[in-house]
Amino acid sequence: MPRRRMRLDPADVALCVAEDLPPVGGGPVAVSPVIQQTSLFAFPDFASLVDGLAHERRDTVYSRGHNPTVRALEEKVARLERGEACIAFGSGMGAVSGAMLGLLEAGDHVLLVNQVYGPTRQLAAHLARFGVAHDVVLDLDPAAVRAALTPRTRMVWLESPGTMLFRVADIGEIAAVAHRHGALLAVDNSWATPLLQKPLELGADLIVHSATKYLGGHSDLVAGALVTTTGRAEQIFERAYMLGGAVLAPFDAWLVLRGLRTLPVRLAQHEADALRIAEFLLRHPAVAAVHHPALAGPADLVERQLRGFSGLLSFVLRRAEFATVAAVLDRLRRFRLGVSWGGVESLALSPQRGSDPAPLAAQGIPAGLIRLSVGLEGADLLIEDLARALEAAS
Ligand SMILES: *Cc1c(COP(=O)(O)O)cnc(C)c1O
Repeated sequence: MPRRRMRLDPADVALCVAEDLPPVGGGPVAVSPVIQQTSLFAFPDFASLVDGLAHERRDTVYSRGHNPTVRALEEKVARLERGEACIAFGSGMGAVSGAMLGLLEAGDHVLLVNQVYGPTRQLAAHLARFGVAHDVVLDLDPAAVRAALTPRTRMVWLESPGTMLFRVADIGEIAAVAHRHGALLAVDNSWATPLLQKPLELGADLIVHSATKYLGGHSDLVAGALVTTTGRAEQIFERAYMLGGAVLAPFDAWLVLRGLRTLPVRLAQHEADALRIAEFLLRHPAVAAVHHPALAGPADLVERQLRGFSGLLSFVLRRAEFATVAAVLDRLRRFRLGVSWGGVESLALSPQRGSDPAPLAAQGIPAGLIRLSVGLEGADLLIEDLARALEAAS
């Protein structure tokens, strides 16, 4: 296992921690942003209200469109991703559906690349009802991605590192393949956060985040974000955001801003502890495989594309039957059993449901897989917990 230290951009750290503080000088000021807990904004005269209604993304009119607390978060995430414009959503799926509903039309095709978050695949399938087709390609070779494009492909949707197996795809090469075809590349950047990977700099046209995960970081809110060009953001705002209504509440935007302040230190600790746990699992006789981007090669691509690792990894039990998977999970005490990830508490989950194994196999996911989100309890305690639980699988 590589023992890399995270190489964060100091400008990003400053942006997360302090760049929304008011300027020095003058009288005493609050160091925490104001929450504009309001659904609407009152105007001094009717002409300015009419003008505001014509510019709901720019002006504060109604909080389903523009709220200044939410806008403060949007500006910070846009700068972290080196993008022109961000739209915050009430969930990660709000951002995913905003991107697809805002940019795709009947007759279009969307190509999903890598193991992609389940509900994103379900949404792509649902869009068949509206005339949008989709395919999935698990082979990450750019030539395989090119071969899966159809004359109708308008969007390539990539998750890297991908769900459950954390395989890393070359964002720059896949962007080039998409662009030569006249398609957009959208990247789900939830695993890496903008601190560890910047898909827009590598050629992607749009990124989404589940801010529920590391950006919020404390499992106390559901939120999402989308970053793209100003023009595309305006189209998504008009067609999908104002009408879809997956709005982020001002208080939740404030919580994500608060979460961002500790993101750099949280990520460093998640990385270090997850790498130690991956090492422990690699040596354990009950474990057939460990999936972590540090092991998912090609090493030069991982080195080039990721500034570090987060705290998500998975491993595969040699005894893959449901009863053994359940017995190991049920013995865990420090790792809690639950969906989602990216908070301070460690979580474990298996995609296996004990029923038909075909759907998992079709996604290339082994039945004995257990996913871990390594929190901040400390690696020693967590390794002890895993060692005890894995006795159920030996
Ligand atoms: C959780 C998740 C989402 C969806 O985010 P929500 O905030 O739960 O709606 C999208 N992509 C990935 C990779 C996720 O893990």
